Amino acid sequence: MSPATHPFLVIGGGIGGLAAALALARDGHEVRVLERAPVFAEVGAGLQVGPNASRVLDRLGVLEAVTATAFFPTTLTLRDAVSGERLVSLETGEAFEKRFGYRYFVAHRADLHAALLAACRESGRVELLPGKEVTHIEPLRPGAVVRCADGSTHSTGALIAADGLHSRVRGLLIGDADPVDSGYVAYRGTVPIGELAGAGGLREPHGMVIWVGPGLHLVQYPVRRGELCNQVATIDTRRYTQHAGDHRAQLRAAFAATCPDVRVGIELLDASRRWQMFDRAPVTGWSREGITLVGDAAHPMLQYLAQGACQAIEDSMVLAGRVAAHAGDAPAAFAAYEALRAPRTGRVQTTARTWGEILHVDGIGAGLRASLLAHQAPDDYTVVDWLYAFDAAGGPAAAPAPLTTEEIPA
Ligand SMILES: Cc1cc2nc3c(=O)[nH]c(=O)nc-3n(C[C@H](O)[C@H](O)[C@H](O)COP(=O)(O)OP(=O)(O)OC[C@H]3O[C@@H](n4cnc5c(N)ncnc54)[C@H](O)[C@@H]3O)c2cc1C
Repeated sequence: MSPATHPFLVIGGGIGGLAAALALARDGHEVRVLERAPVFAEVGAGLQVGPNASRVLDRLGVLEAVTATAFFPTTLTLRDAVSGERLVSLETGEAFEKRFGYRYFVAHRADLHAALLAACRESGRVELLPGKEVTHIEPLRPGAVVRCADGSTHSTGALIAADGLHSRVRGLLIGDADPVDSGYVAYRGTVPIGELAGAGGLREPHGMVIWVGPGLHLVQYPVRRGELCNQVATIDTRRYTQHAGDHRAQLRAAFAATCPDVRVGIELLDASRRWQMFDRAPVTGWSREGITLVGDAAHPMLQYLAQGACQAIEDSMVLAGRVAAHAGDAPAAFAAYEALRAPRTGRVQTTARTWGEILHVDGIGAGLRASLLAHQAPDDYTVVDWLYAFDAAGGPAAAPAPLTTEEIPA
């Protein structure tokens, strides 16, 4: 017996999958979400959210819930991890909000995920099915029949795959090679802010700071209304090979030459688990015959611009907009969605790689970086207009500036 056809089927209940489901539900569509994990939840620690994503979260009706426990940094600062000196700051207070319409905020990932999940449930239009690992996909042209490890099958004329970096559906549509291993790994976790401050490791209590050094960096920012500090330490494992196999010792050795503030943070960081940093070069071809990709499945990127989840959130609004514009024609809607998204997400992917090079530069390059950044005014937003002024709904963005400026300070 063939399974009943579902209007919209989403594979993956991460931030990308839930945002897509919610955006479609807000437009009156019925959506089923299949998630392989036994419960819908998000692991990991903090997440930075730029105004480009806040604009969408606001339209989806979840911004208030997401920001209830968020922290709003007043500055984004780059510091030299070795000397401790401040290299540059971007003010993210009133002037930033005036320009982009929203503040920059940092949240616990679980809080953002929980707000999307609650809104999906409350919509009454999203059926959330945990414990459904999709193992087979058979194209229907349009759509697909998917089979799960538990033996259930689900049929749809419109399949949206939000199954992340190692997307099974991407393999079917594009069939490209494995994601690119950057050689960098990230350690991340939260620490009570009082503990960090007490140990002398909190230089920017009201802001977000990135300590940059040769082949390494440490990001610190408060979350949960400032009760916790989220830390992400990233090292190049091709450069820092000492103690490979012992995560704690390798991390400590990599940061041995950094200033005391940084070393305090590193000592308080959970080193029991670490994440390899992968991305892919931009490609097209992620929409075909009623099947499409969103989020990391479509455009995985390095985390250096803190935009992976933000781009997934943008995807949701553009996708719902194209579905509305091509009512009843999922293949046309998905093709139009990809045509709008690919140039944008491709630019973010490649800029994230470039920004990573700038963060991790060594020797004379680091000196040049310092002297170039010294001329950057803290309220000069032209360098981030292209990223933060973007309006995924296609309406007028808050910022008046044309999106033609270069993204990297120079
Ligand atoms: C260290 C680090 C820091 C980051 N910081 C930021 C930041 O500050 N700001 C930001 O915007 N982004 C950040 N990102 C990126 C962000 O985490 C990701 O881009 C985002 O979580 C991608 O969401 P997604 O829903 O597309 O994929 P995922 O979060 O990977 O979700 C995929 C979901 O699909 C499910 N799934 C997979 N396969 C199947 C299957 N076969 N069947 C059923 N379900 C399946 C998985 O269980 C999972 O729930 C960071 C990333 C890293 C690594």
